[in-house]
Amino acid sequence: MRQRLPNWFRVPLPPGAEGGRVKRLLGRLGLHTVCEGAKCPNRSACWHDSAAAFLILGDACTRDCRFCAIPHDAHPAPPDPGEPARLAEAAAAMGLRHVVVTSVTRDDLPDGGAAHFASAIREIRARLPGATVEVLIPDFQGDSEALDLVLAAKPDILNHNLETVERLQPSVRPQADYRRSLSVLRHAAGAGARAKSGLMLGMGETEPEVSAALRDLRAAGVSLLTLGQYLAPSAAHHPVARFVPPAEFGRWRDGALALGFASVASAPQVRSSYHAEELMAGGGAP
Ligand code: SF4
Repeated sequence: MRQRLPNWFRVPLPPGAEGGRVKRLLGRLGLHTVCEGAKCPNRSACWHDSAAAFLILGDACTRDCRFCAIPHDAHPAPPDPGEPARLAEAAAAMGLRHVVVTSVTRDDLPDGGAAHFASAIREIRARLPGATVEVLIPDFQGDSEALDLVLAAKPDILNHNLETVERLQPSVRPQADYRRSLSVLRHAAGAGARAKSGLMLGMGETEPEVSAALRDLRAAGVSLLTLGQYLAPSAAHHPVARFVPPAEFGRWRDGALALGFASVASAPQVRSSYHAEELMAGGGAP
């Protein structure tokens, strides 16, 4: 299936953008990125700027969300203990000032991969002491002890996405739970972490439902927000209900700031880690 994107969605690439150096580096170190796994439309531009969201704990997921391009595997390989150090090596080689680490969901592991996340944070800190670290975590099935393992490693930002409004959760992310995701964020914010979350628009949600989700996120202590256009990876995935115009994203940004979010990225091309460093600095993005 080829989606015809509206003109406003087409982002010009910088001259010479192809990310070849990053791709070769990641290949040599045996690392994955969510940029590739999720077929992110911004990956060429981001890699040109040496920005990448590292995907740890393998490249196959024990869940099968209806919006996600990452392959499903009920029994993925065990975590690679050398992966955190190689990730830190890649981040240093790329000269990153802000490192984003995310993962597939590993419901097969007793701690959901939380110790592996903590190890990645510590390796990055040791290798790049001046860099900030953002982790985009799964819900660890609501296991607060697993979440505490990650929080103990002191990431600068703890990100966990709601992805969509409450009504659409069962059809969009059937193994997840809206209230459980909110409790993950509430727990992180309560522990002093800067909590971040995001939604994709254009999945069939209504305006009152989006407003309710934003209020729920603020009530959970979330201060950083991303809103972007949903794109279906294939015809077998959840369909795009509509393309949300840029002006509407602008209204959501204004509304979110009025609700008290400290920084908001809201535009069609925004993804969870898009311009993550600027978002953390509080300027909003793009
Ligand atoms: S849990 Fe995350 S990686 Fe796994 S299918 Fe859902 S969105 Fe994709």
